[in-house]
Amino acid sequence: MAIKKVLNYGTESLREPSKEVHKVSKKITDLVRDLFDTMYAQNGVGLAAPQIGVNLRVFVIDTSSNDEPLNPMVFINPKIIKKSGAVISNEGCLSFPQAYTDVIRYKNVMVKALNQHGKPFVLEATDGSLLARAIQHENDHLDGVLFIDHTVNRFETEEVLKKYNLPDLDPDMLIDESELQKELDN
Ligand code: ZN
Repeated sequence: MAIKKVLNYGTESLREPSKEVHKVSKKITDLVRDLFDTMYAQNGVGLAAPQIGVNLRVFVIDTSSNDEPLNPMVFINPKIIKKSGAVISNEGCLSFPQAYTDVIRYKNVMVKALNQHGKPFVLEATDGSLLARAIQHENDHLDGVLFIDHTVNRFETEEVLKKYNLPDLDPDMLIDESELQKELDN
């Protein structure tokens, strides 16, 4: 379909919660195609609809590496129904060009969603895999939550944002990760 412009951190709509999809219509399948076109053009692992200016609960992921066949996955109205464990990972986001920082995530998640045909499915991603982390990262976008909100080192993240001329951390958005942190120490 089309490669869209990815909105950068600082754009207000990235902080807005997205709306449920009521019907997987042509509008939605077109949106899914735009998400994949845009994500692949930017060599991203995942992309959520609000990042291209559409505040609907849709994201796409492809964790295949360059020497593997593509593995496009579509999540419409996703819900994380189970989560456990904790893992620290270095993450980036297409809305934060070049900026990477360490964040804390659940190690294992189970997600329920609709695919591009409107069929429900349940998927489990374990072991702090790229897929497990990407699901949490993209799902957050649908609630206006960004990866930097999960930072494990606020000072370091502030430095990274400054380095790449991105807006400052929003202290009000930082998530209290003490429970996950405890999990990590176990
Ligand atoms: Zn992102």
